[in-house]
Amino acid sequence: MTKIHRIEIRSPFVLDRVNCYYIKDSTPTLIDAGVNTAQSFQDVESAIKETGGTVEGLGRIILTHAHSDHIGLVTRIVELSGAEVFIHKWDFEKMSHEGEHGLIRRIEKIRRFFIETGVPESMIEKTLSSIAERFRTFYSGFSAVKPLEGGELFSFHDFCLEVLHTPGHTPGSICLFDRKGGTFLSGDTLLKKITSNPLVELDTLAEKPAYRSLEQYLSSLEFIAALPVTKVLPGHGGPFSNHRKRVEELFTHHRERMDKIFQILKDSEAPSGSTSGTTMFRVANIIFGCLEGIDLFLGLSEAQCHLEVLEKKGLVFSAKQGAIKVYYPVKADVSIG
Ligand SMILES: [Zn+2]
Repeated sequence: MTKIHRIEIRSPFVLDRVNCYYIKDSTPTLIDAGVNTAQSFQDVESAIKETGGTVEGLGRIILTHAHSDHIGLVTRIVELSGAEVFIHKWDFEKMSHEGEHGLIRRIEKIRRFFIETGVPESMIEKTLSSIAERFRTFYSGFSAVKPLEGGELFSFHDFCLEVLHTPGHTPGSICLFDRKGGTFLSGDTLLKKITSNPLVELDTLAEKPAYRSLEQYLSSLEFIAALPVTKVLPGHGGPFSNHRKRVEELFTHHRERMDKIFQILKDSEAPSGSTSGTTMFRVANIIFGCLEGIDLFLGLSEAQCHLEVLEKKGLVFSAKQGAIKVYYPVKADVSIG
């Protein structure tokens, strides 16, 4: 029986461990590729060696999504092995940005996001330079990838892994499913202890201009709950079963967070009914406290994703005050005309 080996890699990020999975088969395959550090490379190399394989012998790398703790070693591993690299086409842009130009474009998008969400001017430059430093250290752009659409099958000696497109955590997030055996490689879409952030999407998706991360994420979870999964192999942490219970917990978490954000907006209303609206920065501050660096981006992202869904449900509406977007609750007792 072909085994899927879990390799737990050390990471310098807050989540200090990340998994990749090695399948020693006629086409030796790596699923996800750790962080771009010497330590992470050592962890992958020695774990593959223990199974009797080599990094040089890898034939393909399948990436569950384009976050730096999952794609970091791709360039180095491909240089050594010549492996083919697969990622969903909606994460291609994140994966392929190259050099200083790509980085500047990305930072400018984040700057616009910070301005729109109401981040005080005094915080913007400092936060952007810490995020740029993080990108410079851990991202190495890679564009020689084969794009996936979902539905593809990767064959191994005695099982197949089907690509399932599960957008939300990122637009191009995928899971890999062995339909016969029930094994489900979930990337960061379904984790046992950690609540995956549906991250705000700053790149434009030609195929889906009205992409809303949280809405996509919740429908991906619904789709996953219906699958006959027996064992989940996640992007962080150990394997687990009972995926439906975990999906239920995540639904509850997002429902509660949505209620809380709606309440923050209602509490910000002056008793007279006049209000200046609530920025995403204020919402993130009330929920998470004072955030810095990449955590500020993640907190704002969380606020925006929930506000987008509340707006689509017709419970809140937004307006621009100069360059800043503010949100207001829709009052049930308002009569039009
Ligand atoms: Zn991720």
